[in-house]
Amino acid sequence: MTPQMHAGLRALINRFYREEITEEEWALLQVHMAYCGSCEKEFAERKADVITTRLDRAAREGKEARRSSN
Ligand SMILES: [Zn+2]
Repeated sequence: MTPQMHAGLRALINRFYREEITEEEWALLQVHMAYCGSCEKEFAERKADVITTRLDRAAREGKEARRSSN
């Protein structure tokens, strides 16, 4: 694993969360995370952030939908 490859995998994590990743890239990322603890940790932390953000947004949109239907 070269530092460049490692940085490339971090970029794939970003793309995964922007839903721009291809199936091939996702496979590569999973293989990498199987033996790279630091990327796996970053992926898990990003996942927690994304889930929190999406729940917040869903809660806000739910409130707005109720308000506009009144
Ligand atoms: Zn890595």
